[in-house]
Amino acid sequence: MAEKFSIMYTPQGRRLHISGTLPANFIGEKTDDGTICALNEHNAAAIRRELPWCAPERVRLRKSIGCGDRLGIATAGHLRAVREGNMFPVLAQQSMREMQRARRSPKKVLDDATWGILEANYQMGFGCDADHLKTIEDIDACADAGFIGYTLDPGQYVDDAANTAGFDTLREKVNALNWATLRSNPQAHNDYFVAQHNFAEIDYLRSAAKYGAALAHVAVLNAHLAQKLGKNSYDLEVSVDETATVTTPAEHRFIALELKRLDINFIGLAPRFVGDFEKGVDYIGDLAAFEADYIQHVAIANEFDYKLSIHSGSDKFSIYPIIAKHSGSKVHVKTAGTSWVEALRVIAEKDGALFRQILVLACAGYDQNRASYHVSGNVDNIPHVADANLPSLLDHFDTREVLHVSFGQVLAQFYDAIYAVLNTHIESYHTVLHRHFKRHIQPFKA
Ligand SMILES: [Zn+2]
Repeated sequence: MAEKFSIMYTPQGRRLHISGTLPANFIGEKTDDGTICALNEHNAAAIRRELPWCAPERVRLRKSIGCGDRLGIATAGHLRAVREGNMFPVLAQQSMREMQRARRSPKKVLDDATWGILEANYQMGFGCDADHLKTIEDIDACADAGFIGYTLDPGQYVDDAANTAGFDTLREKVNALNWATLRSNPQAHNDYFVAQHNFAEIDYLRSAAKYGAALAHVAVLNAHLAQKLGKNSYDLEVSVDETATVTTPAEHRFIALELKRLDINFIGLAPRFVGDFEKGVDYIGDLAAFEADYIQHVAIANEFDYKLSIHSGSDKFSIYPIIAKHSGSKVHVKTAGTSWVEALRVIAEKDGALFRQILVLACAGYDQNRASYHVSGNVDNIPHVADANLPSLLDHFDTREVLHVSFGQVLAQFYDAIYAVLNTHIESYHTVLHRHFKRHIQPFKA
C-alpha cells in the first residue's frame, strides 16, 4: 500500500496504519514499516488536522442522504453507493436514543465516520447530523463533540389532540401558549396568520394549538445552539415526523412561517407525511394519495427555500420516484437502522447459529423493543427456514421490523460476537450495503 494512512481490520476491530515517518500528534506502536494506531479520540483529532476532508462540513441545501450507522463500521459501504450517485452524504448521524442503545457517545459517532471516510479515501465532503435532539443536555453533548448539523425534535410538545378539537378548545389551547417565548400575543399572532397570510381561522387555530408549544421549544433549543456555536454556523433541521397525526399542508405552512418569524435559520423540515413510514420496510399506503399530498408539501418548501427531509426514509422504494420527481434537488433522505438490519444479513450468511440466537432474543423482546418505534410486524409471521435460507429472512417484512427495533437489546447480549463476525467479513458487509444503498440513491440521480 502506497497510501500514507490506511485503515486495517483485525478481529478486534479497526486500526490506523501510518507508513513511513510518523507525523506529529499521532500516538501508536512502531512496526517494521510504520506505525499502528488505535482509533481513539486523540488520533481522530490528529487525522482531521492532517487531512481536513476527514472532518464534517455543512450540508446546507445540497441534495443529501443520511446514512446512519449504528455499528460505526458501515461508512465505507455507504460511500460505494454514494460515489455512484449525486447525493451529499451525511455520515455521522445518530439520535441520542440510538447512541445510548448502541453504547456510543456523540464523539464516537463522529470519529467512526472520520475513520470510515479515511478507509474509503472519500475526499468530496460529508455532513453530520445530531439527530432527534430533544433537550439542552442533548445539544451540549453533541456540540462539545464537534457536531455542526442538528435535527431538533419537539415531538413531545406537539398536541395531537388539537387534530380533532373544536373551535373553543383550540382557542383555549392557543391562549395558553408560551407567548413570551413565541414573542407575540394571541391577537397579533391571529392577525399575522389570518389577515397577512390568508389562513382560514380554523386552520390557524388548529395549527397553532397543535404546533405552537413545539415551536416554542424549538426556539429555546435553537437559542441555546446559537449561543453555543454562533448564529448561522450550523445546519438545522426540524422534525415533527414522530407524531401520531399527519402534518397537513396548512400546518406545514404554519410551521415554516413560524420558524421564519422567530428568526430560526433552518435547511430542512420533516413533516409527518400521509401513509405509514415504518422502520426498515417499504412505504405503506396509497401511492396516489401520497403523491397528491407530497406535491403540496414541496410547494411550501420551495416557497421558503428549504429541503423536505424524509425520515424513516430507508427502504421506501415505492415512493422514491415520486419524491425525486417533485423535490428535484431539494430533498434529504434519512436512513439509520436499515444498515443494522443489513449487518444481520451478513451474520445470517456467515454465522447461522449466532443469527438464530439473535432472532430468538429479538422475538422475545419485541413487545418491549417496539414501544418507541413505528412498526406493525408480528413475530408469529416470521417463517421457519432451513439454515441455508437464513439470509432470505432479511427480505421478509415482519422479520425486518422485529430485528430493526431489537438492536439495543441484541447488542447488549451479543456485542462482541457481532463485531467479531463483521470485522472478519467486512468486505461482505460493505458489499451488502453497496447493493442496498444503490437502491436508495439511484432514484435521485436525475
Ligand atoms: Zn425521524
